[in-house]
Amino acid sequence: MTETINLKDHIRSIPDFPKPGILFYDISTLLAHAKAWHETIEQMAAALKPHKPDLLAGIESRGFLLAAPLALALGTGFVMLRKKGKLPGITVRHTYALEYGTDTIEIQSDAVEAGKRVVLVDDLLATGGTMAAAVTLLQQVGAVVPAAACIIELTFLEGRKRLPVPVEALLQYD
Ligand code: 5GP
Repeated sequence: MTETINLKDHIRSIPDFPKPGILFYDISTLLAHAKAWHETIEQMAAALKPHKPDLLAGIESRGFLLAAPLALALGTGFVMLRKKGKLPGITVRHTYALEYGTDTIEIQSDAVEAGKRVVLVDDLLATGGTMAAAVTLLQQVGAVVPAAACIIELTFLEGRKRLPVPVEALLQYD
């Protein structure tokens, strides 16, 4: 009999990280468990396939951990959305508001051929600020973004309401 894997059993929650009052969902333990990580990639690949991506875009840095194996599983390429100043050549930036201050993400201006279908991937959807900025940036360089995907959605923060695209989330916490 094949063992069924409950992915939530492999995710730790750590109180007061990175600051007091925040409960942080840590995927390190999921990454470290071969079967659970394999299952995560299989489930995400199945959820993304109907969106017919030409490319996946991963958000630095935990989004990269997902986007690279998912791109191999789906037979697509993989594009990096990075923090500012990390990518060589001509880039396009988008700055967005955080609870305190701002953050900036960047893409190489020629990373996506106009009209290509690019599905966005990150580990976790909280307020949706990061993914909303990433969708804006991808659209600025000519991508069509049919969907975004994550392992974990913090439903009480209603991040998906901020996104102009559907979100595929494997696990929901409220
Ligand atoms: P948002 O912009 O949706 O508020 O926050 C999502 C971003 O912050 C993602 O890039 C995600 O990696 C990171 N993040 C926020 N909270 C957590 C958390 O509890 N666990 C993990 N693994 N990442 C988080």
